[in-house]
Amino acid sequence: MNRPTVFEVGSAQTLSQLLKPAVRYVLAWYAQGNHLGSMQVARVVANRFDALFAVVMAVLESLSLMRRGGSMAESFYALKRSRVGGWAWLASIMDVVGAQALADTLEHEYNQRISQRDSLFVRAYPYMDLAVKSVYSAYLLAYMFGRTNSTTPINHLFGIVISRWAEQDYKAFADEKSAPLFLPATSSGAKASRIARASHTLSAILQKSTSLASTYVIPAAIFGFRFMEWWYASEYHKLAQSQEPIPPPPESMMPSPDGIPLPSDPSLCPLCASEVKNPALLPSGYVYCYTCIYKHVEKHNECPVSKLRVVGGGASVRKLYSMG
Ligand SMILES: [Zn+2]
Repeated sequence: MNRPTVFEVGSAQTLSQLLKPAVRYVLAWYAQGNHLGSMQVARVVANRFDALFAVVMAVLESLSLMRRGGSMAESFYALKRSRVGGWAWLASIMDVVGAQALADTLEHEYNQRISQRDSLFVRAYPYMDLAVKSVYSAYLLAYMFGRTNSTTPINHLFGIVISRWAEQDYKAFADEKSAPLFLPATSSGAKASRIARASHTLSAILQKSTSLASTYVIPAAIFGFRFMEWWYASEYHKLAQSQEPIPPPPESMMPSPDGIPLPSDPSLCPLCASEVKNPALLPSGYVYCYTCIYKHVEKHNECPVSKLRVVGGGASVRKLYSMG
């Protein structure tokens, strides 16, 4: 029986989802230190990590699909896909890289805009997220009860079925591992051309690096991630390193389009538009005259500029300490 169990399929999915936080964690850890190129790494992690990770993974997974007939995580569990050519290749890349990348982009966007309560996207996102996750879980459930042979909606759409490696696959991959990296200058009597030898070496290197990645690199990266997660949460870490790196300052909250406009001069109160008297602060970070904002918050329970809800009314208004 070559139909993998739901546990094998689910484990392969979980394994590939764990790789991204693992890589991000290692890079962030590297960027915090005073290493060679830490600043560059920090900038990449902050701005381009999602896109770069998706591109690198698309390349690596393409190689794995070509060589092994399955994603790297699937190959790790000795699973393969029924079709990998043409449209099935595109669908498989979408399945193992694209869907996750899209989900991460949307989640990032949601977290960025979370204060814009009236935006349709912000209101719809939690339901969209729940719906998509439910569909994926429903597929695994249906697969478990033998109602479908596809493990994800994308695979279903393209008729891709995941199966266990057959005996000949094990044999082919074992041969691949022992294949020589360099062709001898003379092969079967005739001289192999330089180009043929170079292309053989290149494809052998690609082959070996994909097999290396799925056999050692992915499990090692995930183990490393789990270890560091435990290490940073543990007391040992606090004992070993009493100097915590200083996190970047929090982003300032943007004014809401429905809020009152900000005066051009930041020393003016947004509510009465005159010089701030007795400056007072809301959790949103905006500063007003104490009397102006106290009355407003008591009545509306929100920051008039950012529309951020203020829990606790006037008691949440904080006096800004100043020398005057
Ligand atoms: Zn005022």
